[in-house]
Amino acid sequence: MSTDISASGSDLADLIVYLSRLGQSPGRNGIAVAQAQNLTAAQWTALRYFARANRFSRTPSAFSEFHATTRGTASQTVKSLVAMGLLSRQMHETDGRSTVIEVTSAGHDMLRHDPMAELRRALERLAPETREAVAQALGQTVSHLAQSRNAPVFGSCSDCSHCQTEAGASYCHCTQSLLSLPEMDAICVDFQPSRSTA
Ligand code: SF4
Repeated sequence: MSTDISASGSDLADLIVYLSRLGQSPGRNGIAVAQAQNLTAAQWTALRYFARANRFSRTPSAFSEFHATTRGTASQTVKSLVAMGLLSRQMHETDGRSTVIEVTSAGHDMLRHDPMAELRRALERLAPETREAVAQALGQTVSHLAQSRNAPVFGSCSDCSHCQTEAGASYCHCTQSLLSLPEMDAICVDFQPSRSTA
């Protein structure tokens, strides 16, 4: 596919889909390919998701929203990763009736062979201002599409209207919880874009 694109929405849509498929494919590098081929694209998406999602979002139903798939399909994907020892189910720390999904150490080892690492490196090579412009354009597009499809937008606390930070401590008004520093960067199913990012 040519990268000499016009500004048409149709060309950009094709390019985004192609980039997504290329970025997720295993490539042609020996051992890394063998490891990557152990998982399907959906299983890779789930593994990445549970490694990046906060404690309120590490459930099969939140993953189904993120992956834009049915709850049944998402549950099957999670179940297969649990059976492979890459994910585990843990009791929820406050609600004993529900479980959260955690990535196991074998899951973290597998993530070191993530075929998407090459795409991340290619994006890192872009000039910072280009990356910022791409992030803004894609963020706006995701926001508009999610709104028209009545789907949640995933994001992190620093851009969320539920987050209040005072005297160095951050509080989430949606989940009524104090937020730790690592949680501030995690992705969340309850994210509500602040006006400046919507
Ligand atoms: S502040 Fe927003 S993104 Fe952060 S945990 Fe609360 S709802 Fe989720």
